[in-house]
Amino acid sequence: MKSAKIKNLLDIAKAFPTEKDCHQHLAARRWNTGEIICPHNGCGFNQCYVFKDGIRYKCKGCKRLFNAKTNTFMQDSNLPSIKWIMAVYLILHVKGISSVQLSKDLGVTQPTAWFMLQRIRNSFKLPSENLEGVVEIDETFVGGKNKNRHYRKRMKYKELTGRTFPDKATVFGMYERETGRIKAMVLSRQEFRNMARVITYNIRPGSTLMTDDWSGYDRLDKIYNRHSIDHGKWIYADGEITTNRVENFWSHLKRGLHGTYISVSNKHLNKYVQEFVFRFNTRNLPIDEKMDCVIANMGHPLKYKDLIKAA
Ligand SMILES: [Zn+2]
Repeated sequence: MKSAKIKNLLDIAKAFPTEKDCHQHLAARRWNTGEIICPHNGCGFNQCYVFKDGIRYKCKGCKRLFNAKTNTFMQDSNLPSIKWIMAVYLILHVKGISSVQLSKDLGVTQPTAWFMLQRIRNSFKLPSENLEGVVEIDETFVGGKNKNRHYRKRMKYKELTGRTFPDKATVFGMYERETGRIKAMVLSRQEFRNMARVITYNIRPGSTLMTDDWSGYDRLDKIYNRHSIDHGKWIYADGEITTNRVENFWSHLKRGLHGTYISVSNKHLNKYVQEFVFRFNTRNLPIDEKMDCVIANMGHPLKYKDLIKAA
């Protein structure tokens, strides 16, 4: 089914008046090559029977039933599918939405809204390819009160000298200038100490790195072309020496976290970071294409009790 372009909530309400409309939209986006693949774990067979209801399928391989929501964050939910589609719209459209706000917008309880947001967030994945070319890298600390740059430098120093900061989480970011893509993630203390490893895992060796003057980056000089901003602000052939763009992402992230989410526990922080990364990387797409990206990549469902355990 070819649906009309979605630009706002009213378009969603008009385009998907029934469960069948929702399912057909999800199926068209999830199996966007036109080939319906059995989503049951370990199957992946590409032939199925289609039921008359336009919602259900039966795999000709494993003989099990499925629908467009099987093995996704919408599975096992009794909510009307349109509420899920609207939730995806709302999380992508605004700069983040709290569970309290979402519960009001969708007419569901706040715990349900919280659960929906966590499940949707869980489907935001980092770009898997390595970044290359000129890449700005930087890290920041989330939590606590003092966020200015000088404090950040002292934090790095203290981190190196072995002092602990149980209230702060380290978020590491890499911005690829050519494409404007970012990868960012929460690092454990262990990963922070082995940052070179994180970097080589995510950035192609031989690329040009823009860093600040933190001495922890020195060990990267054998693997990358590194320019650090303390060498002055002159222009190199491959661009200016600055980490402004990745820092710009930090301000987005911090404004969003402070403005929308009253408190984010460190255990959930990485999911929020991935939500901001996804929104940032898809910033130039129209809303319906952003939604399609999420629907096409709907991950495995997360169980409610797993979330509660992590809270
Ligand atoms: Zn199957």
